[in-house]
Amino acid sequence: MVKIAVLKETAAGETRVAASPETVKKFIALGASVSVESGAGLLASVSDAEYEAMGASVGASPAVLKDADIILGVQGPDPKALKGFAPGAWLVAGLDPFGQRARVDEYAKAGVEALAMEFMPRITRAQSMDILSSQSNLAGYKAVIEAASVYGRAFPMMMTAAGTVSAAKAFIMGVGVAGLQAIATARRLGAQVSATDVRSATKEQIESLGAKAIFVENVAGIEGEGAGGYATEMSDEYKAAQAELVSSHIAKQDIVITTALIPGRPAPRLISDAQIASMKPGSVIFDLAVAQGGNVEGSKPDEVVVKHGVKIMGYANTPAHLAADTSALFSRNLFNFLSAFWDKEAGKPVLPDDDEITAAIRLTKDGKVVNERLLA
Ligand code: NAD
Repeated sequence: MVKIAVLKETAAGETRVAASPETVKKFIALGASVSVESGAGLLASVSDAEYEAMGASVGASPAVLKDADIILGVQGPDPKALKGFAPGAWLVAGLDPFGQRARVDEYAKAGVEALAMEFMPRITRAQSMDILSSQSNLAGYKAVIEAASVYGRAFPMMMTAAGTVSAAKAFIMGVGVAGLQAIATARRLGAQVSATDVRSATKEQIESLGAKAIFVENVAGIEGEGAGGYATEMSDEYKAAQAELVSSHIAKQDIVITTALIPGRPAPRLISDAQIASMKPGSVIFDLAVAQGGNVEGSKPDEVVVKHGVKIMGYANTPAHLAADTSALFSRNLFNFLSAFWDKEAGKPVLPDDDEITAAIRLTKDGKVVNERLLA
């Protein structure tokens, strides 16, 4: 019987867990045994007893890892902590392959087959397995809620006997999964919302959510969706045009949410100190990219920095701030992935070498680093 181990996360600030009671039950229904490290779900509001009630065994890490065939994590565990697992066991987690490149080598040496869930290709078949989407969606929501909570004014327009409160103006920069949810959330709270991106396909998406699209017109951006839905580094000419456009728009905004990312690169700088200085005191900027280098000059992870009277904030790990929901979706992403490759006869998941998903997510196998993106 294939054994699945669920580890308690050890990274600082990580509150999520890689399996929920629901997915534990589903894995067991597929014929697996599941062993959960004691306390693994506590910070995501899941008790040991809930896992046990679904049929998991709960124990200390050595017992959980002993003879494990599949090890689940939200982030990659310390390679030194990985002991006693079955030879060639799979490590299925968000492994931050570019950021933690040296650790990938250690996983290879340790003899695990490391599968990086953030490398899941953006194809229809893999949509339900995509941890970046599920986590970004909730992060986009949370960014707006957190910005609203430190903003010293209200979001919606209110007409009261004592006078009128005007609606907040919110500007969303970067309209991927997080940005779309940020637009929707700011709209629900009653803000007047505008948004921008470098990919032209987002224009229609912005407008369909009832927000105003603010786009660079004189220099071409990225046609359509962009490869795999991802942006690339823009030309200097584009950057200059974008900076000019942002400068004229941002001074009138109360709330700015930045979400721009480029895979495998530091986050693009979208807001300069001079632009911050042009904003009204009391405005709030939430930099969702702060952990990837930041879109905003001067933003610091997990701090509210006040510059020119503007509050600049962002979390090192935004999904960890709504761990119950993000864990539930992350867990389903992992289950959807493993169950899609479940081989009934073998009684375990099997990854065909020639599958597009295998090629994309497999980092290590048989003691070697095998992923093209890491070897390039
Ligand atoms: P992301 O997190 O990589 O980037 C966030 C956004 O920032 C993107 O929209 C990007 O274009 C934008 N950006 C980058 N540089 C910028 C700059 N200099 N200025 C302004 N904006 C900039 O993106 P994401 O949220 O992961 O998703 C991107 C796209 O992929 C979306 O259209 C989404 O619908 C699509 N997607 C498809 C699938 C699938 O089909 N399986 C899954 C997930 C996402």
